[in-house]
Amino acid sequence: MKSAPKSAIRILEEIKSHQSFCVVGHIRPDGDCIGSQLALTLALKSLGADVVCWNQDPLPPKLLFMDPQGLLQQPQKGYKFDCVIAVDAASYERIGSVVDSITERKLLINIDHHPSNTRYGDLNWIASNASSSGEMIFQLMKAARWPVTAEIADGLFTAISTDTGSFQYPSTSPDTFQTAGELVKRGASIARICDEVYQSYSLSRVRLLRRVYNQFKLTDENQIAYLWLKKSDYSKTGATREDTEGLIDHIRAIEPVVVACLFEEVEPGETRISLRSKHPDVNVNEIAKLFGGGGHKAASGARIEGSQLSVQRKVISAIRKALKTLSPEE
Ligand code: AMP
Repeated sequence: MKSAPKSAIRILEEIKSHQSFCVVGHIRPDGDCIGSQLALTLALKSLGADVVCWNQDPLPPKLLFMDPQGLLQQPQKGYKFDCVIAVDAASYERIGSVVDSITERKLLINIDHHPSNTRYGDLNWIASNASSSGEMIFQLMKAARWPVTAEIADGLFTAISTDTGSFQYPSTSPDTFQTAGELVKRGASIARICDEVYQSYSLSRVRLLRRVYNQFKLTDENQIAYLWLKKSDYSKTGATREDTEGLIDHIRAIEPVVVACLFEEVEPGETRISLRSKHPDVNVNEIAKLFGGGGHKAASGARIEGSQLSVQRKVISAIRKALKTLSPEE
């Protein structure tokens, strides 16, 4: 496994010389964000530091198992911190309303693996080739020689497993497998985690999935697949926003599809898009950036204002343009 880079060592020096911390992540936290936030919080607590772990949004019900101690809390006012550490948050805005509660701080540390990260911290460690922020937190903990308990190992294993699509995405490197192996050695419970994450879907999600298969559309010689999830889809199935996690993978998995796009109605006039690319030369991070979002080459997202029809037209046309750069035999 690679040794920690200078930026990580510098971050450790700062952590060691401070006492009060706030660990934050991104809005609508996913497994990688939650696992990284919790692992870092537990590690800092075990060193005797004063730590709070805040996110604007609560844990999605499906990932409640990750936080048996209820460490992840909603932000409160009136706190002062030596260090705020943001994990897995590609921009300061992605931290959401938590930013209003972390203004009293000496230092902002930014640890992330998104290539679109805007380097908003006073100290930034951005490893865009890391599979997940969880993999980075493990590297940090190893460099610091902090004990990795079974609880921390569970969080980091879940982080890595969820952000690599269960070790399938191209971001999965030999280091990723080595890290996962070390986490299992330290007590990560693969069977329980996989059961909770991959074998425990709510019935409402399954009803939503049925609509996905009924409603998705294909265009551009089946190279683009897209799907709308509207408020009525939630009310008719009893599903919630959390139930959408991973739904896009079902249309991404269709053989001729190169780019999959999920349009999700957030509010009338506001749409959230999720993009997935299966081709190394089609970079959906660049497409998301056109709309003020970001992410990775193969997975990205954005929030876009405008009528549903105009959002759909603009996004599909941007995807089409990206596909045109591929040579015909591809
Ligand atoms: P999602 O489609 O929500 O699973 O997101 C795919 C990837 O894009 C994740 O790594 C997200 O963190 C990132 N992402 C999603 N939305 C945004 C956004 N508005 N700005 C920056 N990154 C985003």
